[in-house]
Amino acid sequence: MPELPEVETIKNELLPVLVGKRFTGVTIFDAKVVRQPSVEEFCQKLVGQKIEDIQRRGKYLIFPLSGGESLVLHLKMAGALLLTSNQPMSYLRALFEFENNTQLFLIDRRRMAAMWLTMNANSVVPKLGPEPLTQDFIYETFLSRLQGRKSPIKAVLLDQGFVAGIGNMYADEALFRAKIHPLRKTNSLSHQETKNLHQAIQTVLWSAITDKGASVDTYIRPDGGLGTAHFSFQVAHRRGQTCPTCNTPIQRLPLRNRGTYFCPKCQK
Ligand SMILES: [Zn+2]
Repeated sequence: MPELPEVETIKNELLPVLVGKRFTGVTIFDAKVVRQPSVEEFCQKLVGQKIEDIQRRGKYLIFPLSGGESLVLHLKMAGALLLTSNQPMSYLRALFEFENNTQLFLIDRRRMAAMWLTMNANSVVPKLGPEPLTQDFIYETFLSRLQGRKSPIKAVLLDQGFVAGIGNMYADEALFRAKIHPLRKTNSLSHQETKNLHQAIQTVLWSAITDKGASVDTYIRPDGGLGTAHFSFQVAHRRGQTCPTCNTPIQRLPLRNRGTYFCPKCQK
């Protein structure tokens, strides 16, 4: 699933191409992808509007439009936005056309991606926790909110209402970096561990953005290229390999239906 670094990379790469461009055509190949309004109204309303900006909130992309509405998009498990058609198009769900022959393709093997057209993006985007790469991610607040939670720390990190944009891969990487076992009870973390985790979250996310995201699954950049962040992964998706710090085999355990990867020796 695209997480914060992947969605941020997509935003960064779409911005210079799409901002200022006007929609000339919209074709929906899978009605399921349009959540609001009707498919017909969605297409009709978009044509003629200009993209004023592209923003990211958590894993959501928000395109404010010249008519005052916003196009909100969530790629969910396997969605991708492409500016090029030189990729397999068997899972094409929507095609957006713009002036000057610019095209944007939404492909999605899992059919979960979702789009909304709304006057108020906040009515679509649920209440999310702070953005971990902004000044809103305050250590003291992070500490006090963690102290009230009993669930495993990994589950808390995946809660988008606690902190926005972290998913399975970057939760595993941040916990490894902070040397915390993913199943530790959240309210058992020491102040030093919490401080390390607060820092580790920011470090792994910045590093992954620098590497343009992780192409471990279906993630692909708008130009068709891949991200390279997974080459720096220490534990995530490294089952069967050894810990880069202590050489212990990396373990995998199921948590909320997802594989959690960790080093049983380094992460207490
Ligand atoms: Zn280790």
